[in-house]
Amino acid sequence: APRVRFAPSPTGYLHLGGLRTALYNYLYTKSRGGVFILRIEDTDQTRKVEGSVEALINDLQWAGIEYDEGPGKDGKYGPYVQSERLNIYQEHINKLLDNNSAYKCFCSERRLNLLRRDAVKHQRLPKYDNKCRSLSKEDVDAKIRAGTPHCIRFKLSSDCLSFEDLIFGGIAYDVSLVEGDPVLMKSDGFPTYHFANVVDDRLMGVTHVLRGVEWQISTTKHLLIYKAFGWTPPQFGHLPLIVNADGTKLSKRQSDVTVEDYRNKGIYPLALVNYITLSGGGFNHVAGEGIRLKTMDDLASEFQIERISSHPSRLNPDLLEECNRLEIKRRLKDENLTKGLIAEVQSLVTQKYPKESLNISEEHVKSILDWSTSRISKIDELISPKLAFLWILPSNNLEINKNLFEKLLDNLESLDKFEQESIKDNLRSFSDRNNVKFPVLMKMLRSVLSGLNEGPSVAEMMQLLGKCQSLERIKAVIK
Ligand code: GLU
Repeated sequence: APRVRFAPSPTGYLHLGGLRTALYNYLYTKSRGGVFILRIEDTDQTRKVEGSVEALINDLQWAGIEYDEGPGKDGKYGPYVQSERLNIYQEHINKLLDNNSAYKCFCSERRLNLLRRDAVKHQRLPKYDNKCRSLSKEDVDAKIRAGTPHCIRFKLSSDCLSFEDLIFGGIAYDVSLVEGDPVLMKSDGFPTYHFANVVDDRLMGVTHVLRGVEWQISTTKHLLIYKAFGWTPPQFGHLPLIVNADGTKLSKRQSDVTVEDYRNKGIYPLALVNYITLSGGGFNHVAGEGIRLKTMDDLASEFQIERISSHPSRLNPDLLEECNRLEIKRRLKDENLTKGLIAEVQSLVTQKYPKESLNISEEHVKSILDWSTSRISKIDELISPKLAFLWILPSNNLEINKNLFEKLLDNLESLDKFEQESIKDNLRSFSDRNNVKFPVLMKMLRSVLSGLNEGPSVAEMMQLLGKCQSLERIKAVIK
């Protein structure tokens, strides 16, 4: 069974791209009875953002992506936070020093800066010149005795230039042409991303690495490190970039980028997850068939890595709304989830209208929710100005024919079955008998009930408000 991992660096919020990576790893193993590991890659302490590990774990949990091993769930491969594994990296770096795959580099920051400046001046790639590769043992010993700070670099070779990407197919890339020997261990004893990532994937028994395509150019370097250790590498698959509908880079300005943004906007986890899979590929979505919301289990069993295309995945924001609408519908079919929805509406309404006396009984809210599924895609639309009439009395300063409305009141009071169809019939015959044009009556009545000029049909509104509340509102204007 596969062992996969999601290995974020705790440098901020979880973005849509990160969520997609986590999700696809999760789906990939879940359908195969494998293990999903969460590993925190925090070796670059300067980029670490306080609180982001907790936020990340929280976001994953919210999304329904549960890890089997990771912080707080120690399996036998822990610790799962890289800064707690420094001794392991130390031990492994010694192996590479011993077998001559790595070497100590004493070049100062100043020298490296000069090299970079020189490269820019001559329009060459800024590449480390591998100077310390050729230091003699005596030189090295002398520098160590003198206490010269040093890092450890990997001897890049052109041995292993291509691999079969699970998503992109054959990838060939000679790192040594563009890079000097990369640092594996910094002078402060912290490993670099590349080194820690390879060592941990190996020690944690990772079989498949699914990660963002931005890491694809690092893979041949990683493969060389595996080789230096004499290890068999895992399989690699790189997920294409997620871009806006117009093909441009995702940015905060154009759309929401963090999981938290979506959550705060009232998007439900399963809706977000489905949205990602609709854009990200890996499923047999038949175009034009309309979308079907899939549960995590459906997604896991239907996920096929071969179906992911290597083209950037374009987001289609309309689908997000549709997914959320379907998710509200799904929740209304499940008693426990419905309770949650009702509570959510109750809390939104009382927050929005703290001073009014409202009818927010479970029964009333439920009937409004049932009615709303074809109209709204987010729960907070229920408290938008257009639907405020559902909760509060309209403010009306309209001139109405009191006489007519008194008659109407009597007429409606005698109506037992207060449902859209019967209400409509009743109103129609009332308008005939009283010689008032039906549309005119409806316009007035709409205003009396909601204070608005448009919205759902009048009979529909009355059914939603219920008999008592509808009549109250008519009484209020004839007083
Ligand atoms: N720590 C890397 C990141 O933040 C992990 C990349 C990988 O999966 O190898 O994305």
